[in-house]
Amino acid sequence: MIIKAVIGVLCAAVVLAIGIVIGHFGINNSSAPSWLNDVAKDVDESLIEKFLAEVDTIHIQENLRELTDVPHMATTPGDEKTVQTMLRRWQDADTGLDDAWREEYNVYLSFPDPNNPNKVTVVDAANTVQHSIREREKAYTSDQDDPEVVQPYAAYSPAGHAKGKLVYANQGKPSDYEQLSQTLNLTGTIAITRYGGAGRGAKAINAAPYGVVGVLVYTDPLDINDGLMSDTNETYPHSWYMPPSGVERGSFNRDFGDLLTPYLAAKEETYRIPPENIVGIPPIPIQPIGFEDAYILICALGGDAAPSEWQGAFNCTYNYGGPGFKPTSEFNNSDVKMDIYNKEVIKNSANVMGVIRGSVEPDRYVIYGNHRDSWVHGAIDPSSGTSVMLEITRVLGRMVKQGIWRPRRSIIFGSWGAEEFGLIGSAEYTEVTSYNTEQYVHLIRNVYMFVVQVNAPGESSTSVYEAWKLHSNRTSPTHGVIPRLGYLTGAGSDYAAFVHYLGISSIDMSYTYDRSKTNARIYPAYHTAYDTFDYASKYIDPGFVSHQAVARTAGNILIRLADSLLLPFNCSDYAEILEDYLNTAVTLYQQQLEAHKISIGKCKTATDVFGDAGEYCNTQHTGRNIMPLKVRRINDQLMLLDRAFLDPLAFPDKYAFRHVIWTSSSAGKATFPGLADAFAQAESSGLDSDWDKVHYHLSVVSQAIEGAASTLADVI
Ligand SMILES: [Zn+2]
Repeated sequence: MIIKAVIGVLCAAVVLAIGIVIGHFGINNSSAPSWLNDVAKDVDESLIEKFLAEVDTIHIQENLRELTDVPHMATTPGDEKTVQTMLRRWQDADTGLDDAWREEYNVYLSFPDPNNPNKVTVVDAANTVQHSIREREKAYTSDQDDPEVVQPYAAYSPAGHAKGKLVYANQGKPSDYEQLSQTLNLTGTIAITRYGGAGRGAKAINAAPYGVVGVLVYTDPLDINDGLMSDTNETYPHSWYMPPSGVERGSFNRDFGDLLTPYLAAKEETYRIPPENIVGIPPIPIQPIGFEDAYILICALGGDAAPSEWQGAFNCTYNYGGPGFKPTSEFNNSDVKMDIYNKEVIKNSANVMGVIRGSVEPDRYVIYGNHRDSWVHGAIDPSSGTSVMLEITRVLGRMVKQGIWRPRRSIIFGSWGAEEFGLIGSAEYTEVTSYNTEQYVHLIRNVYMFVVQVNAPGESSTSVYEAWKLHSNRTSPTHGVIPRLGYLTGAGSDYAAFVHYLGISSIDMSYTYDRSKTNARIYPAYHTAYDTFDYASKYIDPGFVSHQAVARTAGNILIRLADSLLLPFNCSDYAEILEDYLNTAVTLYQQQLEAHKISIGKCKTATDVFGDAGEYCNTQHTGRNIMPLKVRRINDQLMLLDRAFLDPLAFPDKYAFRHVIWTSSSAGKATFPGLADAFAQAESSGLDSDWDKVHYHLSVVSQAIEGAASTLADVI
């Protein structure tokens, strides 16, 4: 999550006639036409060396200082200030891009009411307030005291008033409420939950069927602070840990993109669904609070002790709640009361777009993006990524302005708006793109070779590759021990619409902390008022050397995607993942599938065929003496491979998910997601109709793999 960049490769459907039959490239042939050298040109290694040398820590540091000057939540004056910063940089005469502009969308957002803040209180039978939950985080520096720091809240939580006895519901998963309800009647209760385990909004969605009327959520020090709690010497400003009053804000919707314009770009004149038809948002009020208040509430709860997996770092036993507090506590017989005043509003949110036009294949695009909006100052999320993107565009922009370089393919830069509310800017962009220009989708597989070249932060002797392999690796049957790549299976960031909806090969890149040294679920200031320049420069990346390593790595990949004669994708690596998925499916499911007369044989055959096709494709990929039209054809095959895995009808219950290999899954198994989810459902219900769905998803994925393999073979 730290220091992010999202890159995608995208191609227009229009094939330009650049490759008119010219026979083999005759680079040294003096009678060859002058454009032939350009068409045959491959990536220039000396240019990459020059790029790597020019990426500068001080520039990145000053970018971050400027971007985090004021809070810049989507559509606020601070957000507009960052729009202007991006435009000024990308329109600069000496270091800017060919062109840069803003694109506005009218999007549905949710804010607390600054004049009527959300309140959570403990009240006795006479409605006398016994305890008030802190409404703002404690300020340690003037940053946190800025009046533009938004009150912690749950975006898209409905406004409303709820009052009831408190219960502790662990992480708010369906199984947590199920377990609680076995001994308690949850009707009319307020549930307190901790972050983790279930999505933010799901904690309320899962609660409502049990009659719960309101939900609180907090971050347990066990999950974020390695158990530490004191701000006198343990947490920020003394370390990177979350102070007791810190609150993770967030969007509590399930689906991504603008909620009123599903599958349509949210322009002024666009059709909008009625707000009451929105699905996947909390049906009951929910509010996030700090662990200093959660500590007071949880340690006063009565009832039976919760099981050991539910216990956190507080020095008391976490009880279920009677419901309500212990008779011996000062809150005996008291209720928890929630008064939530969030308001939904349609506002203008801007993406800032910039381009460097390609010289040879301007109709092929490499997209590099990062969101711009934050919850508060957002030094790490997202401004670390924007600081890096601005440094990459400064170095590349200058080369373009000086006439030293122009990429083979076009590069599009995107500074997305309103990501924090649900990946809105990037999703709206893909909705316009897919409908207006029929562009196509993809995933980048072979990034290893590029990180060999970049030094690990602060070191001259170790590469990012070696550091990566040391800290996170896997054993590949082909390559031996190699760095581990994660899969883009969920909708964690702006890659979602590109991968899942359009099928564009994508990378989501971050430089993160050593997870062997901390159990922190994410960096502890995430979405709090403490994610500031001071925090980033003191505790995340002093000297900005990690930022520099990310800029070098991302820029190196970007240049190679834009300039390589043949796209640097490796089909065999994709085949390896499919084979892994298949082996897991065989181990976990084959026996039961056979018991239900469902054969996995077709899937095995398809995976084998894909493996062969991948190897064949790689052999086509070597050598440089290739006709331009063949180059174009091979690149089409590589670029469009992920698109072959899209099935628009396979997941009717999952908004905008169409990629049968990477779709989100709730089963938690490293195998084909549709199959895994259908199997989990059939196993628990035992219904024939659910086993039919298992059979269906097995056929969907087998057919997709077979189809994808056929796109890698020779045309006829
Ligand atoms: Zn975020």
